[in-house]
Amino acid sequence: MTDGNMKKEFGALLFNESTMQKYISGGSLDAWRECVKNRTVLPEKVTEDIAEGMKKWALENGATHYTHWFQPLTGETAEKHEGFLVPDGRDGFKMDFSGRELLRGEPDASSFPSGGLRSTFEARGYSAWDPTSYAFIKDRVLCIPTVFCTYSGEVLDKKTPLLRSCEALNRQAVRILSLIGDDKTKSVSVSVGAEQEYFLIPKELFGKREDLRLCGRTLFGADAPKRQELDDHYYGAIKPKITAFMQDLNEALWELGICAKTEHNEVAPAQYEMAPFFTDANTANDQNQLTMEIMKRVAERHGLVCLLHEKPFDGINGSGKHVNWSVSTDSGENLFSPGSTPAENTRFLLFLAAFVKGVDEYQELLRCSAAYAGNDRRLGGQEAPPAIISVFVGTELERVIDSIIKDKPYTDSGDRFLTVGKDVLLRLSMDNTDRNRTSPVAFTGNKFEFRMPGSSQSIASPVTYLNTILAEELKEAADIIEKSDDRQLALKRQIREMFSAHRRILFNGNGYDRSWIEEAAERGLKNLRNTAETIPEYISEKNIRLLTGNGIYTRKEMESRNEIHIEKYCSVITIEARTMLEMIRKGILGAVSDHLKSLSGRFEFENRLAERAGSLGNALLIETEALEDEFKKYDEAVSPEEKLDICANGIVKRMAVCRGVVDSLERIVDARFWPYPDYTELLFAI
Ligand code: ADP
Ligand code: MG
Repeated sequence: MTDGNMKKEFGALLFNESTMQKYISGGSLDAWRECVKNRTVLPEKVTEDIAEGMKKWALENGATHYTHWFQPLTGETAEKHEGFLVPDGRDGFKMDFSGRELLRGEPDASSFPSGGLRSTFEARGYSAWDPTSYAFIKDRVLCIPTVFCTYSGEVLDKKTPLLRSCEALNRQAVRILSLIGDDKTKSVSVSVGAEQEYFLIPKELFGKREDLRLCGRTLFGADAPKRQELDDHYYGAIKPKITAFMQDLNEALWELGICAKTEHNEVAPAQYEMAPFFTDANTANDQNQLTMEIMKRVAERHGLVCLLHEKPFDGINGSGKHVNWSVSTDSGENLFSPGSTPAENTRFLLFLAAFVKGVDEYQELLRCSAAYAGNDRRLGGQEAPPAIISVFVGTELERVIDSIIKDKPYTDSGDRFLTVGKDVLLRLSMDNTDRNRTSPVAFTGNKFEFRMPGSSQSIASPVTYLNTILAEELKEAADIIEKSDDRQLALKRQIREMFSAHRRILFNGNGYDRSWIEEAAERGLKNLRNTAETIPEYISEKNIRLLTGNGIYTRKEMESRNEIHIEKYCSVITIEARTMLEMIRKGILGAVSDHLKSLSGRFEFENRLAERAGSLGNALLIETEALEDEFKKYDEAVSPEEKLDICANGIVKRMAVCRGVVDSLERIVDARFWPYPDYTELLFAI
């Protein structure tokens, strides 16, 4: 693609501001801008005008249908296409789409998870246009980003809480900024860049494995003789087949206005990463959902399958989604950037302290935002942060914080002093080598990188919680500063107190190290090792207070979400277990007997092999029956909590034992009989 082409193609399928300029009147465009900036309601006339322009543009670009595009609690996206074409008179037709269709949709949504918020007899869910994210065309369908709720207004999606949290943070940030003497900032916004990791494997091999097809990951697989120990894949030369995929992917993303900035091979064989250019949180969330969908489709076109599961293969790295997050003012100043004046430095330290405090106080909630079955397999494993939440700030900033806590001036390497909010500047040398890759929440110069989320999940909840905890801490600080006579003094005291009380969450060491687990326990940090341990924390009174208090959810919405989390976890685990049982019964046990039958029995080595394979086969049958017994218990269990416990402590553990036996068998059974492509084929075929 040439430069000129690129200009033509970039955002070609996006109804963005410059396209809107061509299709809607100046007055309507101004009203839309005002609506986006100040969250005002659009007059009916303007909505009609935008709908008309959007329709014209969509039809000119080949669209035949339109859909409200929403993000239900499945974590995926949903759409229901409506044709533009309607009959007109006896023989005629017209293309119909008005403000009403733009504004509101009524998908028959009875099958989306609602956690009891909506009974099937009143199954209607409503989708309502989100004018702050751009409409786009996908597969000749005009997609209108929308929020999704019940008839009585309870939220059923992931976008609404995200929008609300951005608003809560905006409110509290502007308020505290004004209290500390900034009266020019009228709004703040959240920026997000979500790095996406994924695997690519040949489609033909994928088709041969039921576990990959049904569960998105391998349930068995002995290690390949070579894994990632040579580090030769990471940033290695990209193979032509993959380059072709990446080029195609980039073009598909560019058309939708998604700027794929970097792409490279990741650590594990067959693993890759794509980082988009960051943008506002709402758009970044839409874009990441689209990116995942488009990755899968483009892969298909190249005879590949894109695996977004957090841990498709044991023994090598899993895939995460690093959420880069920062907050900026309407004049474009990044509030996590140590600025160039003492006042900016104080502002930076205030936001930093509030965030550090928030992470410490709401560790469990952040952990919740990345807790689900797939991510359980990744966290704490190779190259993934541990399940313990801590914040990395780097040694220099840590020294600054410690000097604030001790109320001593800070001397940096250039012999400059720092006293909070006074005369001296803080200039951090944000050296890239000083980056800790093992921390779940890392400060990287002017943003935080939340590395706990997994590759398949929506970023909406992680970002919602990051926003909300910061909003909450800013609110608490503002309440105190507001009441004091000397606000500058109160501000300094607040910064100091926040750092002092929450110092324990700062950790610059190696998060992969076993000793960190003990140290974290001594510091009183939570170690919620898996989803089953984490889920109950979600609806703790503390979290309910935080999220209802900031207008993110109602208590009822949280309770329903809690139910959905449990249900989803149990569904994933039981599907995996059933798939495993089927593969053992239909594929593996047969392969073992075929193998045994093929041995002539004339040689000593054959007898020894037969002995070993035979006893592993026997053990496998016993373990399979034990897994089936867990299933019986599961079916008999009544309460969701009981089912959750059986899944996490019964089924998952039994599955691990079965897997161990199968993997041992795979190592000795003649490859001619083994019914599934092995790790060497899957990972090194391209
Ligand atoms: P790093 O070297 O820390 O990985 P990059 O500059 O490569 O940093 O950025 C990684 C991701 O972070 C990209 O998606 C990028 O767009 C995003 N990013 C960069 N700056 C910011 C920021 N201020 N706020 C949010 N995201 C950002
Ligand atoms: Mg990365």
